[in-house]
This record gives sequence, C-alpha cells and structure tokens, in this order.
Amino acid sequence: MAIFAEKVTKTYQSGEVTVKALREASLTVPDKKIVTILGPSGSGKSTLLNVIGGIDRYDEGQIVVDGRTLDGLKDKQLTEYRRKNIGFIFQQYNLIPTLTVEENVEVGRELSSNPLPMEDTLKKVGMLDKKDKFPFQLSGGEQQRVAIARALIKNPNILLCDEPTGALDEDTGKNILKLLKYVNETYGTTVLIITHNQGIGEMAHQVIRMSSGEIVETYENETLVDPE
Ligand code: ADP
Ligand code: ADP
Repeated sequence: MAIFAEKVTKTYQSGEVTVKALREASLTVPDKKIVTILGPSGSGKSTLLNVIGGIDRYDEGQIVVDGRTLDGLKDKQLTEYRRKNIGFIFQQYNLIPTLTVEENVEVGRELSSNPLPMEDTLKKVGMLDKKDKFPFQLSGGEQQRVAIARALIKNPNILLCDEPTGALDEDTGKNILKLLKYVNETYGTTVLIITHNQGIGEMAHQVIRMSSGEIVETYENETLVDPE
C-alpha cells in the first residue's frame, strides 16, 4: 500500500516542556517498496512510524494510506485500520514469555480478519521446528523471527519496523533484514524500517533522513544491495 504524509506535525507536552516531534513532515512511500528511515535519536522517527501505523495521532497535516485519509477517524476506525493493514516489529520483541512460539504467533492471527496459515508463516521465518519452544529458550534472532511471524500472519499490507535489529549482533541483524526483504518480495508488503545503521539504507528502494522532526533528505536506490 502506498503511504502519503503531507506536512504532518506532532507536538508532545510533558509538564512544562513542549517537544515538536514532527515538523511538517512530508513523504511519499510507493506501494510494495522498502523504505529506511535514518536519523539521530530524538529526530522523530518513531513518532512518524507510530502516526502512520495509527498507534498515535498527529496534530496537523494529513496522512493518506491506500487513498484513505487517517484524518478524523474515530478510535474504533483507527483500530480497525491498524488491525487490517499494519504489522509492527520493535527492537524489543515483546513476546509473551508464558506462551510458546506458536501461541505467540497465534496472538497475531486472532487480531486479523484475513490471516495466513500458521504452519506456512512459521516456515517462512524458519521457526516451524521450534514452534513449541518458549521465548527464553530462543536466541535474540529467533525471538525477532517469532515477532516477525506474529506480525506477518495478519497478512498486513504494511510492515512498520522500529529498530528491528537494534538488539542483535551484526550477522543476526543481517539475517533479519534479509527476511524482511524476502517478505517484501514474496508478499508485496510495503516495509518501513527505522535504523541507526547507515548500511541498511543500501537495501532499501528509498532512504529518508530525519533531523529535529523534519525530513531533510530523501533519495532512491537504483539497485538494491543485499545485506551481507
Ligand atoms: P526517534 O525515534 O528518532 O528517536 P522519537 O520520535 O522517539 O524520535 O522522539 C522525537 C521527540 O519526541 C523526542 O524529543 C522525544 O523525546 C519526544 N517524544 C517522543 N515520544 C514522546 C512522548 N510520548 N511524550 C513526550 N515526548 C515524546
Ligand atoms: P541467531 O543467529 O538466530 O541469533 P544464535 O547464534 O544466537 O542464533 O543461537 C544459535 C542457537 O543457540 C539457536 O539455535 C538457539 O536455539 C540456541 N540458543 C541461543 N540462546 C539460547 C538460550 N538462552 N537457551 C537455549 N538455546 C539458546
């Protein structure tokens, strides 16, 4: 799904302090593309992802996803939009420790109106043989694979990834990025990836750089480099 944001602003008020997390941020993400969002800590990357994903509201401007504006959606409609279209991946895998791999992924399936088959999804992320393990029995890379399966089983149109490799060593991180690329190619999922890692930019169709709540640079890659 294509995403358009036009002059989106978001201000946080914490006590006396006002923080402009987004200042008239505009972007266009074409359908079925991988986009990375680079920028220093506090530059508004997570806020941008959260307002696109409907887990937070923006103040001004406009976000249009697949031709429909998020403006003025009621809470219930926003939840519906999110459940139907969006998969989230975070740096912390946020798995439920008392549930097995399969049960964790099932949580994602229950939230979907159009889920993919369980076995297929576990196979895609390479976790079928560990479906009965608990999170503590898995490595970090494996836990992130489960988190990706939990997002994927919803069959989302858009995957929003906030520092998906932030807690992983370099090699494991590359494998996770390869998996995201594979998902993009296989399902045509639009994938947005926040990262600190400049190198990850090379694997994306488009790179966006943020600074102090603004999008200061956007460029496209002609050829995509595999994370190796
Ligand atoms: P990034 O993802 O690039 O690190 P964020 O979007 O998390 O940036 O944050 C942008 C700015 O908004 C930062 O100054 C941050 O402290 C502030 N901010 C983010 N979320 C909140 C919040 N819930 N309440 C108050 N300030 C926030
Ligand atoms: P990855 O590259 O996927 O992160 P690792 O190299 O970290 O994998 O781990 C290799 C193997 O070690 C994995 O198959 C995993 O099952 C096992 N492993 C890692 N950490 C643990 C743990 N805390 N308990 C049990 N097995 C573990």
